[in-house]
Amino acid sequence: MNIVVDLNRCQGYAQCAFLAPRVFTMHGEEALSYAPAVPEDQQEHVLRAAAACPVQAILVGEEAGADAG
Ligand code: SF4
Repeated sequence: MNIVVDLNRCQGYAQCAFLAPRVFTMHGEEALSYAPAVPEDQQEHVLRAAAACPVQAILVGEEAGADAG
């Protein structure tokens, strides 16, 4: 599963880093880094993180792929 975070939209709320710390990491207050290729055992955490993001900055799976709309 692949993800893309729209870093222009991301406001650094860190919900994702809290819910899936192995995929999303905060550097300081607002800089987010993440692993675009999500390991299988982290997928559920990432889906929860995507749902919890207050600004829907996390795109998952097909949405994040080149074939997205
Ligand atoms: S939850 Fe959303 S806004 Fe918050 S750091 Fe993650 S991607 Fe950014």
